[in-house]
Amino acid sequence: MRMDELPTPCYVIDEGKLEDNLRILRQVQERTGCRILLAQKAFSCFYEYPLIGRYLKGTTASGLYEARLGYEEMGLENHVFSPAYKEEDFPELTECCDHITFNSLTQLEKFKDRCGRAERGLRINPQLSTQEGHAIYDPCAPGSRLGVRIQDFREEYLPFIDGFHFHTLCQQDADALKKTLDAVEAQFGPYLHQVSWINMGGGHHITRKGYNIDLLEQCVCRMKDIYGLTVYLEPGEAVALDAGYLVTQVMDVVENDGIRTLILDASAACHMPDVLEMPYRPPLKNSGLPGERAYTYRLSSCTCLAGDIIGDYSFDREAEPGDKLYFMDMAIYSMVKNNTFNGMALPSIAVMDKEGACRIIRTFGYEDFKRRLS
Ligand SMILES: *Cc1c(COP(=O)(O)O)cnc(C)c1O
Repeated sequence: MRMDELPTPCYVIDEGKLEDNLRILRQVQERTGCRILLAQKAFSCFYEYPLIGRYLKGTTASGLYEARLGYEEMGLENHVFSPAYKEEDFPELTECCDHITFNSLTQLEKFKDRCGRAERGLRINPQLSTQEGHAIYDPCAPGSRLGVRIQDFREEYLPFIDGFHFHTLCQQDADALKKTLDAVEAQFGPYLHQVSWINMGGGHHITRKGYNIDLLEQCVCRMKDIYGLTVYLEPGEAVALDAGYLVTQVMDVVENDGIRTLILDASAACHMPDVLEMPYRPPLKNSGLPGERAYTYRLSSCTCLAGDIIGDYSFDREAEPGDKLYFMDMAIYSMVKNNTFNGMALPSIAVMDKEGACRIIRTFGYEDFKRRLS
C-alpha cells in the first residue's frame, strides 16, 4: 500500500527517517563512547524496538509499565526514573531494570537496600533554566519537584549512589547542555569523582539539522576524561524526530464569518495533544501559512471542543471532502499521548519502508474505547 491508500486517521512511521536518526546517534556513541537510550515516553512504538536496539544501548522508562515494555520488547540496558515509586511496583522494577534513579533523598533512603542488582541513581537539579517560552517543560523553575538541589544534598548518601542524573532541556542545542554541565560541575563537581556514571537526560535535539554535535561530544568527553564517568544520554524526540506522519481526510468544509474550516477525522485534542498543550503548529505537507497560497482554511476536527483547532493553513487548490492531508513530525509525543475523548477513534498505526511501501501494524476499534471505561 502507498501512503495515500491508507485508511484514515493513521499514524505512519517512516523507517528510513528513523534509521537516519539512529545512524546519527550511533555515530555519537562511536566517537565518544557514550551510551544512548530511547526515552520511551516520546516514542513507544515497540514494533521498531528491534531496529532501534541495533543502534542504541537500550531504553529508559518513566515508571513500571514503560520499564516492562522496554524489557520485553528491546531487552537491552533498561533504566527507570520516577518522582516516586510505589511499594508494590518496586520488586518488579528491580527485576526488569538495571538502573533505578531516585528523585529525592527520602525515596533513596526508602529503597536503597532493595535495589538488588540494579544500580542506584539520584536525579539532581542544577537550578539553571536554559529555556524561555515553554515553562511547563522547565524542571529547573523555582519550586520544581524534579531533582535534588545541592543545598539539600547530603554527603552521607554518596555510598548509595552509583550515578547522577539530570534532565533539564527540551528541544535544545548543545550550548544549553554546556551551560548546564558547567552548573552541575560547579555544584556537584567534588562528588562526580565518587560515582561511576552520569545521565544527561533528554531534550537534546541531536538529529535536528544544524545541531552542534561537536559541542555535544566535547561535553560527553569532558565528563569521561575529568571524572572517568560513563555518560548516558536519553533522548526521546531526537530518536524519532520527523520520522512519522498523521494521515487524515477532509470530512466537510464549513464557512462562518469569512472563516472556512476543514472538518478532519483527526483531532488535535485526541491525536496530537501537544499541538494544544505545548502549543505548536504541526508542519503539513503541501501547505503554506495563512494567505501564502490561494486557499486558506482553518483545520479542525469532529470533537465538540470548539478550540480543537490545529491551525490555519493555505493550499494551492480548493479543498474538498475526501482530500487527504499529511501532518508531519507525528511519530513523537503522539501515539503515546492520544486519547478517545468524545469517543473519537484512535488512528491506526502503519510503517513505511525505505521504498515508500506502507503496512498497517495495528488498528483500533470500539472495544479499545470501551475497555478503558466502566
Ligand atoms: C522527557 C524525558 C526524556 C526525553 O526527553 P526528549 O525531550 O523527548 O528528548 C528523557 N529523560 C527524562 C527524565 C525525561 O523526563
